[in-house]
Amino acid sequence: MIEIKNVSKWYGSFQVLTDCTTTIRKGEVVVVCGPSGSGKSTLIKTVNALEPIQQGDIVVDGTSITAPGTDLPKLRSRVGMVFQHFELFPHLSVTENLTIAQVKVLGRSLDDAKARGLKMLERVGLSAHKDKFPGQLSGGQQQRVAIARALSMDPIVMLFDEPTSALDPEMVGEVLDVMVQLANEGMTMMCVTHEMGFARKVSHRVIFMDAGKIVEDCTRDDFFGKPEARSPRAKDFLSKIL
Ligand code: ADP
Ligand code: MG
Repeated sequence: MIEIKNVSKWYGSFQVLTDCTTTIRKGEVVVVCGPSGSGKSTLIKTVNALEPIQQGDIVVDGTSITAPGTDLPKLRSRVGMVFQHFELFPHLSVTENLTIAQVKVLGRSLDDAKARGLKMLERVGLSAHKDKFPGQLSGGQQQRVAIARALSMDPIVMLFDEPTSALDPEMVGEVLDVMVQLANEGMTMMCVTHEMGFARKVSHRVIFMDAGKIVEDCTRDDFFGKPEARSPRAKDFLSKIL
């Protein structure tokens, strides 16, 4: 579903990604972890071309993001993205947040968009809040609306960038529950997260990044179960967060 091939990226003269290669298959849940500043957010943003790359290529569902003529807005519309900060439109109601991109980007009728959006809102357990504004919801609820909004676009893959790290601790669980449910339903997911409970429970693979490089790319069982086989940086990281 996603092929990241020898990707390197620079911000000016600073190399933020060095020769990153990995493949995410349909239905796979891949957790990306690593220290702050290691390039996790940058890598995930390159997947839907929110950040340009200078070397290598990324192929999403058969479409190269670097090929001339690739319709990037169309490709982005198929890749759901949930960030640390919920980025809902504050001046729009929950229902409007759920429908606007479906109408403007996918060209759906307002009725179809509403039907789809409300179905996704039900899936994240927030149907009762459809007429509220983001400011009237808790952080955890806003993040669940953001997930419902991404799902309303019928994404082929979902990218998460630390979706729970800005939340109060008591709200982390409700967002992770939605992510676990999605994973169990077979959604292809690439998740930057430090929630190792989530990684242990539902991920198929773990990628560990350090200083812009993919240092580990292995099965969940190898990552957590065979620490002796891990790189020193990954071992150190694991010892701090587990
Ligand atoms: P992570 O998500 O793993 O914490 P990031 O991908 O956000 O790491 O950042 C990786 C490195 O790139 C950091 O050193 C960060 O300071 C730098 N960086 C991120 N965004 C920019 C930018 N827009 N311009 C310059 N440097 C950046
Ligand atoms: Mg980050």
